[in-house]
Order: sequence, then structure tokens, then C-alpha cells
Amino acid sequence: MNKNWGRVAAIAVWIAPVAAGAARAATPPDLILAHGTVITVDSRDSIAQAVAIRDGRILAVGSDATILALQGAQTRIIDLHGRTLTPGLIDTHAHVADGGLGELYHVQLSDATNVADIVQRIRARVGQLKPGEWLQGEGWDEGKLAERRYVLATDLDAVSPDNPVWLEHTTGHYGAANSYALRLAKITAATRDPPSGTIDRDAAGHPSGVLKEQAQELVTDLIPAPSAAQRRNGILTSLQTLHREGITAVKDPLIDQPTWDAYRQVLDAGQLSEHVCVLWGAGTTLASARAALKSIAAQPRPPHSLGDGRLLSCGAKIFMDGSGGARTAWVYQDWNRDQTQIDQGNSGYPLVEPQVYREQVRLFHEAGVQVGTHAVGDHAIDWVVDTYAQVLRNKPTHGLRHSIIHANIPSDHAIAVMAGLQRQYDAGYPEMQPPFMWWIGDIYAANFGSARSQRLEPLRTLEARGVHWSGGSDYPVTPLAARYGLWAAAERQTLKGTFGSQPFGTAESVDIHSALRAYTAAAAPQLFLEGRIGAIEAGKDADIAVWDQNPYAMPSQEIQHLHCVMTLFRGTVVYEGN
Ligand SMILES: [Zn+2]
Repeated sequence: MNKNWGRVAAIAVWIAPVAAGAARAATPPDLILAHGTVITVDSRDSIAQAVAIRDGRILAVGSDATILALQGAQTRIIDLHGRTLTPGLIDTHAHVADGGLGELYHVQLSDATNVADIVQRIRARVGQLKPGEWLQGEGWDEGKLAERRYVLATDLDAVSPDNPVWLEHTTGHYGAANSYALRLAKITAATRDPPSGTIDRDAAGHPSGVLKEQAQELVTDLIPAPSAAQRRNGILTSLQTLHREGITAVKDPLIDQPTWDAYRQVLDAGQLSEHVCVLWGAGTTLASARAALKSIAAQPRPPHSLGDGRLLSCGAKIFMDGSGGARTAWVYQDWNRDQTQIDQGNSGYPLVEPQVYREQVRLFHEAGVQVGTHAVGDHAIDWVVDTYAQVLRNKPTHGLRHSIIHANIPSDHAIAVMAGLQRQYDAGYPEMQPPFMWWIGDIYAANFGSARSQRLEPLRTLEARGVHWSGGSDYPVTPLAARYGLWAAAERQTLKGTFGSQPFGTAESVDIHSALRAYTAAAAPQLFLEGRIGAIEAGKDADIAVWDQNPYAMPSQEIQHLHCVMTLFRGTVVYEGN
């Protein structure tokens, strides 16, 4: 009871200074950040000099003179020495629990430059394992390898004769197994492709080791699950990275019960210094969707949360299609290869039967649950937005914010439907990943081909047609740091420049004002936290990132090198660098 009364009192004094100047002297801030450039990302994109914070919330924002006048005897002052503040950044699509787990326990391959380099890393790790123990690696990408080809079982077998090996591609939509793992999974030349999956084969029809989409599960289902402690460690590792990069809120878009339990444990231990909103994996059938709905129904419905805004069970995640990396995303025109060739007869495929998908969405929508659907190809995106339109027409509901995850190449039709759904129902929001153009941009340029590449991540067109979009990394598909997304939204450059440095053109570039809004104010509603985060405004949580430079004043080419020097989560310094 005391605790509740204390909270009411705190809110009362926190509102008072806004309402009446006379109360200010009686209720000084705990902390003032002054002598800086404060990029507020409020509705007018206004700039201030200083911020006052009390009880984890922003008390006031303004000039140095007005804010410093609020200080009391106990107020701590941080002199920014001209550095720049932004709201704590928000990533609307980052697999932080799984990504952290991988960083701790799997062989990291994202910086491998050739196949021999990967084989050497596998040889080194195998030397530390007992015969029969699994070796997991992740992050390889043929677009970054000198050979520009997949990693194959034949590459791995000589160094791993007695251990099963699974190396996940950076997109997570395909991976490479060694022959030991293929044997365990009983995959032979006679094995048929599973529904919505591809067993890659050599010219003679033998499995190459590469498995795509649902074919991956033939192997990954055999890998022992991580322990609860490992899952917690994974989350804690990612929290450190988030704080180091000024990111204070994240949507973790594919979780299951063990991951939720791990988040709960981290929260209960007082260690969840981040806003985390999760989507539960809904699987590929109506039965699996019903099971997910049961898990969702057991948790508070957003904007209600656990830990006062720290952990939100936001909704359900469905995969409509595959990946632009694996050429499995569902497109209207056959995929390309090497930018100019055509992957004859391959236009990808839906990962869930389209009518079943429609039923899944209806199930969640009618239960008042947010749906986020992974849709990369134009065919998949059309199906998703038309489904959203249909369920919203049948049961108009405002504010569920159903999203189109990735939305890499939306058609004109899809963009028009998104704009209409946003206006009419506060739904139909694309959650985009500009850093795809950079980190996996070389395989994207190869697979999407020259013409289609111009329509990739059409950020400027989205804005011109009134579509609000938010930004994310899809970590570990690309690195977690949001500064890469802020940069890529403007520069649209690939990592290696295999097909020229800007194969996606610059007609769809947006400036840093748009990009920063996509990672702050425009992202907050997708986590149902727009009342609390996304802008530096009185009354909002004091989630703040301090940067060495002003992103609004530096060349856009340099924004990828923006350096975070301090991060505050609800008024507490959770990271301090130099
Ligand atoms: Zn993802």
C-alpha cells in the first residue's frame, strides 16, 4: 500500500511543474543534462539544449537557462560539452534473445572472407568437442565470400568427421550441414523436399548440405535446446550491445515459451533495463496459431506490460514467405542470379498455405491481437496487406497495428493499401530494415536483379504516399547497431559493391530526419509505447542516447560511424563510454 501511495505522490509532483511554475522550486529534478544539442524528435522535430529528469521521466526540455533554473541542492548535472542527445533508439525487428545466444555459444562466421576461413574456424572448434557433440555456427553469407558460393558439406566433412555441424546463413533462411548431420537427419538423394522447404542438390542429385526454409528443421530439430541459463545469458549479452549503441527499446519478433520464461527471469532479477516487446511464433497451421494465441492470452495485453513497460507480450508472428537471400521469397517474376541471369521457374513460395494464413490472421485479429507478418516478395506482401484489409473490414478494430515485416519490394497496390489501413484503422505498418541493402546487399542485388532492385526498400515512395514506416536491424541478420540503418536509409550502399556500390539506386533515399524518426517516434507505436518513448518530451520516460556528433549536422555518409557515449534508460545511466 505504501508503495502505491508513493507512486501516486511521485506522479503528482512530476505533473506539477508542467502545470504551475511555482511548484518547480519545491520539486527539483534528480538529473539535468545541459549544454548540448537535444534532438527531440517531437512532432515539430524541434531542437533544445537541456533536459531535466525526475523519477525516471523527463520533467522538462528547453534552453540551458530555463532547465538549469530548475536545479535543486540534490540535482546531479551532466555537462554535455556540446554533444548531441537523441531519444533512446528503437529497433522494431531484432532477434535479441536468439542473437545473443548465438554470439555466446556458436562459431561466428559473419566476418569470414572465404570458404577456407570458415573451414579453419570449424576445425578449431571441433578440436574442443567430444565426438558426436553438435557444432553450431552462424552468420556466413556467400555474398561476402571470395568464392561467391554456398558452404557445402564437402567443405566441412574433412575437418568434422565425428561431429554433426550446422552453419546457419546470416538470413536464418538457409544453412549448411555436414554429412554427419545429414546422416543423423536421414537426408539422402531419395529424400523429397518437405512442404515449403528446399533440399539443395548437386548436379548428380545428391544433397549438397544446404537446406532452405522448412528443410532446415530436418537438421535443426535434432540439435539439443539451450539451457535456461544460456538463454538468460544470451539476453544479457544483447542488452549490453543495445546499451552500447543507444538502443533502449526493441521488438523481439519470434519467441517461444522458453524464451519468454528467460525474459521473465531477467526481468524478475531486476536486469531488464530495456523496453522489450515480443511476438510469439504462430507456426504454419491453424492448430499452431491457436497454441500461440493461448500463450498470448495468458499475458497482459498491450499497452499493459510486466515491469512497468519493460516487457510486453505484443502479438503473433507469421512467415508468409522466405528470403531474398535464398531466393525463396514469394515474388511475381522469377528470381535473378548474378543480377542479370534468370533463375528460371523459381518465383519462391509461400511458407504457409495462403488460405491457412488468412485463417491464422483472422484468429488473432478477432482476439484483438497484433499480427506481424514476415513478407519479403511482392506477391507475399500483396497477400498480407489484402488479408489485413479483409479482416479489418469484417471486424473494424482501431490500433492493433498489424505489421508487414521487411516489406522489401511492395507493389504500388500494397503501398496504397498500407496507406489506407493506416489512416482508417491504425494498422498496416511496414517494419523495414534499411541495413539489408548494406550487409546482405550484394546477394540481394544478385537475386533481385537490376530492375527490381530499384524498388527495394522504397522509403521515399512510402513517405510520399503517406505510409509511416519504422526501422530495424533484423539482428543477427545484420549487426544490431541502429546507426547502420540510419546511414543505409540515405546511402543505400552494399558492403562489397559486387554489382556497383549503389545497385538499388538513390531515388528512394530518405534523409536523416526521416530515418531517425523511423528509429524513434515512428517506431514507438509498433511496441504500443508511444505514450512513453520515442521522443524527448516532458512526461515521457527518460530514455536518452548521447552521441559524439550531431547526426543532423554531419555528412550522411559518416552516420554509420556515429558513436554513442552514454545511454540512459528511464533516467539511469546504463552505458557510459568515451
Ligand atoms: Zn527476423
